[in-house]
Amino acid sequence: MADCNAFKMAQTQLDEAAEILGLDEAVHEFLRWPQKEYSARIPLRMDDGSTKVFQAFRVEHSLARGPAKGGLRWHPNETIDTVRALASWMTWKCAAVDIPLGGGKGGIVCDPKQLTESEKERLARGYIRAFADIFGVTKDVPAPDVYTTPQIMAWMMDEFETINREHAPGVITGKPIPLGGSQGRGDSTARGGIFVAREAGKAFGVELKGKTLAIQGFGNVGRYCGILAEEILGMKIIAVADEHGGIINKNGISMQALAEHTDRTGSVIKMEGTEPIENSDLLELEVTMLAPCALENVITKDNADNIKAEMVLELANGPTSPEADEILFAKGIPVIPDFLANAGGVTVSYFEQVQNSYNFYWTIEEVQARLEEKMVTAFDAIFKIADERKIKMRTAAYLGSVMRVAEACKLRGWVS
Ligand code: NAD
Repeated sequence: MADCNAFKMAQTQLDEAAEILGLDEAVHEFLRWPQKEYSARIPLRMDDGSTKVFQAFRVEHSLARGPAKGGLRWHPNETIDTVRALASWMTWKCAAVDIPLGGGKGGIVCDPKQLTESEKERLARGYIRAFADIFGVTKDVPAPDVYTTPQIMAWMMDEFETINREHAPGVITGKPIPLGGSQGRGDSTARGGIFVAREAGKAFGVELKGKTLAIQGFGNVGRYCGILAEEILGMKIIAVADEHGGIINKNGISMQALAEHTDRTGSVIKMEGTEPIENSDLLELEVTMLAPCALENVITKDNADNIKAEMVLELANGPTSPEADEILFAKGIPVIPDFLANAGGVTVSYFEQVQNSYNFYWTIEEVQARLEEKMVTAFDAIFKIADERKIKMRTAAYLGSVMRVAEACKLRGWVS
């Protein structure tokens, strides 16, 4: 799947922005690497009485604009470089939507599908015991990511509070609502992306209403992307894929029915009224919008030339390699970059922290209205830079974010 390492990809993207900005060499070097990195080995007592040891990471890419913020991914292919890349994208994402947080990410190399619920709970608690010193509302605040859930966040919050002997719900976001989670967090990443897609459609002259969408990934992000694209944009979803395979129906697939089918069977495949399609073929379909909502590096130099979508909405992190980015730009296909398109999740995570600090909670309407305002403002600012300089949306987003983070580093006196 990969034609380059995700962290090298993140560094290459920054290098391009640094060159355009004429960024000071020391600032550039500082931002190319995470500020702090932690690793731990977590022994886990399995239900059968044996013990297995898991590798865990936490990376704080930047603390210049506020406490580190970023999800925890449990995945068998997790590496320190994936975590570094994701942590740096969090820095740029928080700056893009102008929230006062830095960038972080964490992970455990494991296959959650092979773990029982009680093993998952002990692993979640073990992770917090390993990193309890670095987490805290004013230090570093984790959240869910691939294969981690609100329940896992609840166990982690409880472990943190038990260690610290205090109530501290803001230490982690994406919690269940009865434990201080925010209304609207569940679909916030996709909802933010759909608001941005609506604005991008207007700005780039791509009509979305009644038009077609293909989605790769049908987890938290992909599923709500489909449901909200139907509801808010009036789009027709013709193809969806997950790790088990893909499905297609050129007349459209009901997202509600597909969500029910997936809940029942564990996959989108074999959905009634659809034909199978290869995951790789889905990416190359002739559709109005393509939404990668799974993992990084799926649009590469090998398939970019075959992409026929009129617009790409990157809801996954890092789905497009730098070489593919150039090819799509040359073909005139607008790519709405990940750290703008999927910033809705961290925006509502930030709202969750704010509500936890106030100990006063907003209605879902308030959350969604504030999210819409943040996303539209961020899109407008980035589109303006891209339009004026005739550069990719991703580069424009980097320019805005890097300037904000570099300014914070300078004001702190870290760099001159
Ligand atoms: P998830 O675990 O809920 O779902 C992942 C989905 O991707 C599943 O449907 C899985 O089957 C599918 N998938 C995995 N490997 C695949 C493959 N090789 N081909 C096709 N599909 C595959 O994860 P999620 O929370 O929906 O996150 C998806 C992406 O969005 C990730 O890149 C994540 O970093 C990013 N993201 C998530 C959030 C969030 O709030 N959840 C926020 C920002 C960014």
